[in-house]
Amino acid sequence: MLQLNPDLTDLVSDAAATFMDRFHGIATITAAAPGRVNLIGEHIDYCDGFVMPFAIDRYVVIVGCANGTTQARISSEVSDEIVVLDLTLPQEVGEPKWANYLRGVIRGFQDRGHNIPGFDAFILSSVPGGAGLSSSAALESATATFLEGLLDTVLDTREKALLCQKAEHEFANCPCGIMDQFASCFGKPNRLILIDCQTGEPELIPFENPDLTVLISNTMVHHELSDGGYAARRKHTEDGLAILGKASWRDVSSADVQAHWEKLGDPINRRSRHVVGEISRTIAAAAALARNDFETLGPLMAASHDSLRDDFEVSCKELDLMVEIARKIGRSGGVIGARMTGGGFGGSTVTLCESRKASAIATTLASEYEKATGITPQIFASRPSQGAHLIGK
Ligand code: ADP
Ligand code: MG
Repeated sequence: MLQLNPDLTDLVSDAAATFMDRFHGIATITAAAPGRVNLIGEHIDYCDGFVMPFAIDRYVVIVGCANGTTQARISSEVSDEIVVLDLTLPQEVGEPKWANYLRGVIRGFQDRGHNIPGFDAFILSSVPGGAGLSSSAALESATATFLEGLLDTVLDTREKALLCQKAEHEFANCPCGIMDQFASCFGKPNRLILIDCQTGEPELIPFENPDLTVLISNTMVHHELSDGGYAARRKHTEDGLAILGKASWRDVSSADVQAHWEKLGDPINRRSRHVVGEISRTIAAAAALARNDFETLGPLMAASHDSLRDDFEVSCKELDLMVEIARKIGRSGGVIGARMTGGGFGGSTVTLCESRKASAIATTLASEYEKATGITPQIFASRPSQGAHLIGK
């Protein structure tokens, strides 16, 4: 039941082979960038909160080479077509939609004064798309890394992540916070990335205990509500902060939210309670993890899920079910904590568990979920991995 993560080396050689088929040339530049999973701190990266993701060992790979023209010719596993972009012009949003992530990143380089030479590129990924694991951020940071290779330049890592975030805002119409692109760009093996989203400072914290395993369970459902739902939640938090009369959520206490409960009104009062609660839970979780205090960490993950379900209303019945199955397995069955991860409305859950029981837990999660829904989920373990990087250049 526990799926193996495709090896990055195999992914790269498959991508190079398809590149040769489609473009009849040899790829000389290879960039890889990972998706991410968030342990705790959800929907608060755009609220000056703390988040604690890590880069997973699943990657978007882009292989290609300069083509001596002024055009980018890009192709992906998602279709057979070759999309042609005129690099003499500033990039704008267009069709097909998947190419907008690349257009947005190219535009970020153009806006910094880079003259991008023509290139051919092919994209292959092992990050499940639309599963709350940020294949979109991985695609953006892989593109930025590919362009670094093409231009023989290196961006500051924070600047690169922010350029990618801007592409997601302006070319994919998703007003995301900084977590996904930071995780994909700053990822390191054996390290979680605790991000203070007020200062934009990522702190790499050790996560190398072999007795701990992180299971990712992709429910395989994606509810369409997500497009408007994300922006609506972000707006609620902005309205809440304005009503509370504060400059930052970091200046708001739970007592402040309670004191203004009626004035905030429903649902903004519940959205506000989530933000304030999730910020303190994430700080507490980082401290609990540092002292191996799993009896504290587990309930914090549970409270995070409940708050996302009831107050922030970004969960769905499939995510709730997957979390419920993990809760039933419980501490005696090796589960430390479980919650939805990512933006929600479908996607994946994260389950922190004891390594020696991980395989049995994955089997139970898969079989119980399938029994109840008729859907076969995708379940895999992941360890913190290297962020966006060039391979062999
Ligand atoms: P998530 O980031 O959670 O995976 P999104 O909806 O934000 O979900 O991003 C998924 C989109 O990213 C896809 O619809 C597609 O447009 C793009 N994408 C992801 N992987 C690839 C790929 N390998 N090739 C082309 N486009 C991709
Ligand atoms: Mg995304």
